[in-house]
Amino acid sequence: MKKEERAGIIIRELEKLYPHAECMLKYSGIPERLVVATILSAQTTDTAVNKVTPALWKRYPTILDLSLADRSQVEKILKTIGLFRNKTGFIIKAAGFMAENGLPDTISELVKIPGVGRKTANVIMGEIFGKPAITVDTHVKRLSGRLGLSTNADPEKIEQDLKRIIPEVEQTLFCHRLITHGRQVCKARKPLCRICSLKSICPDFERGSP
Ligand code: SF4
Repeated sequence: MKKEERAGIIIRELEKLYPHAECMLKYSGIPERLVVATILSAQTTDTAVNKVTPALWKRYPTILDLSLADRSQVEKILKTIGLFRNKTGFIIKAAGFMAENGLPDTISELVKIPGVGRKTANVIMGEIFGKPAITVDTHVKRLSGRLGLSTNADPEKIEQDLKRIIPEVEQTLFCHRLITHGRQVCKARKPLCRICSLKSICPDFERGSP
């Protein structure tokens, strides 16, 4: 089966399984907060990030407030999430960048924000600007390999592979749905292959436990 054909079946199946999949990070509709939340989500679950951001926004309601924050105070708020010291530095610098320059609407400009890589930039492009975006996080990376959509390990190459076979109009939601499937069924250590709706077309079927 060609990759495009398999991708089409996966798109339709995931649409049926997760019709309401969406970005799980909470940001109250304020785009700059999504940038900060996405930086915080690196190697951390969205749930853990959503637990700390309300206190962060309460203490620093605007991005300018955050850009002027005392680092040790921010660290206290973020201490329950992984790599919180590094992330504190990044979000204060990112806030300063956005307070000064606003929020750009291209990938090439977004990645100039401190702490923002292609993953975060794509989240912003899809969620805030409604443009086609392939967000390659740990789930998209793993499932793209297992489902035979990409043989690459490098996230940027996976992004390019998926862009070639997923229609633009589907890209953003496809990633949300693939992430949801990765969290609920195609888990990293023990994928639930026997109950997986994609097993009939998955080259890695039976990789997981019964
Ligand atoms: S069949 Fe198994 S490896 Fe393939 S997508 Fe489903 S859970 Fe993942």
